[in-house]
Amino acid sequence: MSKRDYYEILEVGKSASKEEIRKAYRKLAMKYHPDRNPGDKDAENKFKEATEAYEVLSDDDKRKRYDQFGHSGVRGGQDFHDFTNINDIFSQFSDIFSGSSFFDDFFGGSSRGSRRRTQGMPGSNLRVSIDLTLEEIAQGVSKTIKIKKSNVCSTCNGTGAKDTNSFKTCSVCNGTGELRQISRSLFGQVVNIVTCNNCNGTGKIISQPCKECKGEGRIHGESTVKINIPAGVYDNSYLTLRGQGNAGKHGGPAGDLIVIIREIPHKYFRRDNDNIIYDLWISFPQAVLGADVEVPTLNSKAKLKIEKGTTAGKYLKMTGKGIKHYDRMGNGDQLVKINIFVPQRVNSKEKELLKELDGQENIKPNK
Ligand SMILES: [Zn+2]
Ligand SMILES: [Zn+2]
Repeated sequence: MSKRDYYEILEVGKSASKEEIRKAYRKLAMKYHPDRNPGDKDAENKFKEATEAYEVLSDDDKRKRYDQFGHSGVRGGQDFHDFTNINDIFSQFSDIFSGSSFFDDFFGGSSRGSRRRTQGMPGSNLRVSIDLTLEEIAQGVSKTIKIKKSNVCSTCNGTGAKDTNSFKTCSVCNGTGELRQISRSLFGQVVNIVTCNNCNGTGKIISQPCKECKGEGRIHGESTVKINIPAGVYDNSYLTLRGQGNAGKHGGPAGDLIVIIREIPHKYFRRDNDNIIYDLWISFPQAVLGADVEVPTLNSKAKLKIEKGTTAGKYLKMTGKGIKHYDRMGNGDQLVKINIFVPQRVNSKEKELLKELDGQENIKPNK
């Protein structure tokens, strides 16, 4: 069968950017995915064709060879997978499908262990919590933490076998990795194909395990992980670091690392979304006459002018002095709430002055 031109398949020009190619493939993959077109051979072929084209054109090296030599430039060797299993495609290109609600809804399950030809048991997710100051949240921060987790065994590269000859064919499934289960129902005979438990669908059994990991393909240890935390995260929210959790058994996919954000209460500020609130206490004379005061900010401090006649409960806005927005440009504000200090104890002189003041015309509340 002669192959169609990859650019033609993806309906893009020869000079298409990586992003254009990615978008074109995504569009076609959505349209022709077999789960959306059950039993439609034509759709499945189109899907595979688009995937093959994408695999070549999204890789700078392969694209160069293809541009120069055509299909013969990229055929053969290790370059090609046989895309017999649609789910393999999704695990390979999961990055371009992530964040799409369509794929999450329809194919989310495929990446969570229902794959028929799995290589090994997936690793479990790990959770860590990380304490952040409001200052760190305001700007975003990167943290390096140590976690205890399973890592891929470097001696056997995760296979769990001593070497490449240390495998034998699984006797339960005869190397197919699958078992047929026939059951009878009202509607007749039903054949279920299930993953072989004995070999976990690989069709192979380890005859001589790796000494380092005792055949597990992973080793428990400690890892240093760098976490980039964007500005504006909330207390109790979490970030998911794909593939940073425990390594899988026998080379199975690693779990995720889930980082839970804990916001340390601030000495001065309360948080209101991306705004920060500061309670400022001023004296009664300052409120009446106005004053220049100093208030703390997230980075240092700032001068603030209190206008004469400022009342309690009023908010003064310091634009842009709050927390950087998580999802858009710019910052929140610092809001300064005015509180008027009422002394609980006064000396005799103060008492005299206050009494004298209280008799004056403009001091009385009722006008
Ligand atoms: Zn090992
Ligand atoms: Zn088996």
